[in-house]
Amino acid sequence: MKEVDVLIIGAGPAGSIAASIIHKAGLQVHVVEKEKFPRFVIGESLLPRCMEVLEEAGFLDALKEKKFQEKSGAKFLKGNDVADYNFSDQFSKGWSWTWQVPRAEFDQTLVEVNLQRGISIEFQTTVTAIEFFDDESSLTTVIDAAGQEKKIAARFIIDASGYGRVIPRLFNLDRPSNLDPRKTIFAHVQDPKRDDFDEPNRILIVTYAPETWVWIIPFSSGTTSLGFVGSFDFFDSIEGGLDQKFKTLIEGNDYLKRRFAGADWVFQPRKLEAWSATTDKFYGKGFVLTGNVTEFLDPVFSSGVMFATVSSQLASHAVIKKLSGETVDWENEYTNVIQQGVDTFRSYVMAWYNGTLDTIFFARDKDPHVVRQICSVLAGYVWDMENPYVKGHATELRRLARKIEQSQG
Ligand SMILES: Cc1cc2nc3c(=O)[nH]c(=O)nc-3n(C[C@H](O)[C@H](O)[C@H](O)COP(=O)(O)OP(=O)(O)OC[C@H]3O[C@@H](n4cnc5c(N)ncnc54)[C@H](O)[C@@H]3O)c2cc1C
Repeated sequence: MKEVDVLIIGAGPAGSIAASIIHKAGLQVHVVEKEKFPRFVIGESLLPRCMEVLEEAGFLDALKEKKFQEKSGAKFLKGNDVADYNFSDQFSKGWSWTWQVPRAEFDQTLVEVNLQRGISIEFQTTVTAIEFFDDESSLTTVIDAAGQEKKIAARFIIDASGYGRVIPRLFNLDRPSNLDPRKTIFAHVQDPKRDDFDEPNRILIVTYAPETWVWIIPFSSGTTSLGFVGSFDFFDSIEGGLDQKFKTLIEGNDYLKRRFAGADWVFQPRKLEAWSATTDKFYGKGFVLTGNVTEFLDPVFSSGVMFATVSSQLASHAVIKKLSGETVDWENEYTNVIQQGVDTFRSYVMAWYNGTLDTIFFARDKDPHVVRQICSVLAGYVWDMENPYVKGHATELRRLARKIEQSQG
């Protein structure tokens, strides 16, 4: 039976960040990953706030070598109206750029760096059961690539299993999200006309219909991720299977039609649905949850990988502290910090779907100082309490929208 200090479930960004930081602290770490890598996963547009974590975990050099598409902002398009947020002109101190990445390649790069460092990672190995003991140690059952059942003893577990939600599912901690369930149809497509349209160093978010929007994420390879997000009813109202729906959706918007109609697909359109989820608690005796397992809101502001990396960084430092014999105040040092970031983005997601952000993004006269403050939130700097649009996230957006509505008559 294998015995380790820390068992990490999942080799996505959350798992790889945790493995790197904990290994660097001299603890023995082991990663189990259900899939064979590289594997496809959605979530391709990063936020600048990720970069600080990738830097601490020692991944930046290897990532730079991959020459991923640099991203320096987020652009919102509604008919002819444009709202362009440039990360080099923002309120909070921090990174002014990040990347747009095919995730299979990005996640594989992190894994390769960790393997070169001597971190042990077992692929095609699925956690099926976990038993926790009074001293917080645990015994995890996995089925490995050969179909063999094995046991792993660990002093602590970091669950970074993303949509797998291993510990919440095994221990009944899952809780429904308070956001409406939504659906996406997406594909990677060839994008030969991109230079005639928008600069590739932006994610482009196109308003398609009420509560329905499109992501356009160009990659350095010349292909682009194109995805439609809307309600179940919206997609049901379009005839045909996934391929037909995808084609009809492209034809249904002038910008998309001119840029993407007739373009070849790298893979057939796929769908995903009802992704928002949360849990009763982010930690417990012998474990901590990081990344998507804690809470995933909505893709509109590309916050997923940012939360995956930041939560894993914070959790890893707490685990190192705990295993060195110090006391960790998990509620204040971990849960409340992550929750404050999640709650800030939740306000923005709600403001996006109820039209408040529409008023703000496409206002005629914008206060440049406010634009910079909102830009910092869009860059992922949601822990900067000096920013009124972070500190007052629940009220300030509505207040600003009302002011704009009054001034525009
Ligand atoms: C439609 C959509 C669009 C999105 N767009 C963006 C975006 O543009 N930018 C962004 O930042 N985020 C985006 N996201 C969110 C993003 O996909 C996730 O937030 C991100 O992948 C979370 O990383 P993670 O490391 O927590 O989990 P993952 O990347 O999901 O990694 C978890 C790993 O755990 C493994 N695993 C699962 N179960 C087990 C098990 N039982 N045993 C062992 N291993 C297991 C999985 O195989 C997986 O490799 C989007 C999400 C959706 C739904």
